[in-house]
Amino acid sequence: MNSPEDTIAAIATPLGEGGLGVIRISGPKAIPVAQSLFHSLKHQDLSNATSHTCLVGTIGVGAAVDQVVLTIFRAPNSYTGEDVMEISAHGSPFLLQKILNLCTSHGARLAGPGEFTARAFLNGKMDLTQAEAVAELIRAKTDKSQAAALAQLRGSLANKIRDLRGQLLPLLAQIEVGLDHSDEDHNFLLRDELIRTCTKVDAGMNELLASASSGKVLREGYRVALLGRPNVGKSSLLNALLKEERAIVTPIAGTTRDTLEETLTLHGIPVILTDTAGLRVSTEDPVEKIGMDRTRQSLAQADLVIGLFDGSEAFTPEDAQVIEAASSRPHLWVINKMDLPAQISANELHARNGNAEAISLSAKTGMGLESLLAAIERNALQEKAGASEAQWLLNVRHAAALEHARTALAQAVQSARDKMPEECIALDLKTALDALGEIIGETTTEDLLGEIFSRFCVGK
Ligand code: GDP
Repeated sequence: MNSPEDTIAAIATPLGEGGLGVIRISGPKAIPVAQSLFHSLKHQDLSNATSHTCLVGTIGVGAAVDQVVLTIFRAPNSYTGEDVMEISAHGSPFLLQKILNLCTSHGARLAGPGEFTARAFLNGKMDLTQAEAVAELIRAKTDKSQAAALAQLRGSLANKIRDLRGQLLPLLAQIEVGLDHSDEDHNFLLRDELIRTCTKVDAGMNELLASASSGKVLREGYRVALLGRPNVGKSSLLNALLKEERAIVTPIAGTTRDTLEETLTLHGIPVILTDTAGLRVSTEDPVEKIGMDRTRQSLAQADLVIGLFDGSEAFTPEDAQVIEAASSRPHLWVINKMDLPAQISANELHARNGNAEAISLSAKTGMGLESLLAAIERNALQEKAGASEAQWLLNVRHAAALEHARTALAQAVQSARDKMPEECIALDLKTALDALGEIIGETTTEDLLGEIFSRFCVGK
């Protein structure tokens, strides 16, 4: 993470023309930076302005760039916990870039992805599950995922984790007291109580894990089949995805690996990608027949089918077959070759098949790849969450930490049953508590934080 002494700035609204565009500045110099650029219409002095007020004025040095509304949030009562200035300008990428350049030439630096939310976390304005909920809320595309993300932002998951930790903490405290007294009765009572509480906490964790499909996905991997006629770019997309996620996981037990199948980790989820042989109109050729059988098999096993289309060519009857074949399974559409002039639009695919998500990208340039990765992750994790009234969006990071905590608790129970020394039990309890603490961010590493916040967009 970068120094908290830096003052950071970024465009917080999506780039494109709109009524408004917002630039956010946060850090110890946020007010001086704004002061050097902003001229209040009523000649109000920014250094005296109260928190949570808005001033109208012009922005610019020398010549005015735009007429804006400046909103002032003083530390600690802001999103990041620092002094924050929000400049609401007119929504023009050109204007916003110009204002942002002024901010960076007057003492701010460009914010990294997720840096505002990272600061909110580091300044204790939110825990890690809430920070993750911000990203989920921005990404949410269904009522249920939106409701779950909002509940998580309000602390639903963190409270549940704190409750589980709260049940384990007294046990650890008791053991630590007990280590100073070698009283047999005390030990006997404690071991009994420990087994009872650990079993109860374990059930709570299991219930949490059951609320999302991530547990199963983590263990068995998520099967994604690429389907498309020849030359739409299936191999190119596969290669681009493999390159994007440099870390290739070891093969998952029970999955066959041949040249058509690759396993990669996508934000921690093992994804088994199959490049299908494709569907052909003619089935006379025995080699093609084998290929088609294999394609059918991959489709039947797929948790998600990605129908791939060549966006630079008009829609063909073979493309229509892809739509038909993919529609029997959970699916999404990818329009490839967006670096070339477009001949197919998402609307055209929607007209042919309901409302499956359609993502435009270029396997060649990598443009849009991140949206596809995010869509695969969403599908992998929310299958089940979407079907229930989920109060949170359990992600792979949470699930892995819960599994880790469960293993440690099982070990603690076993040690208690085997009358192992209390030091051993204490160690297992600590491991479980740390794993739970990792979920809310009470025990974290810089690497973990970097990995979480790098997935945010700049300006969030
Ligand atoms: P497959 O038969 O579906 O596996 O398709 P390939 O991955 O072999 O790609 C077919 C051709 O399209 C190759 O010449 C690729 O270089 C080209 N191609 C693939 N993706 C893109 C893309 O995003 N943009 C452009 N311009 N060409 C692409």
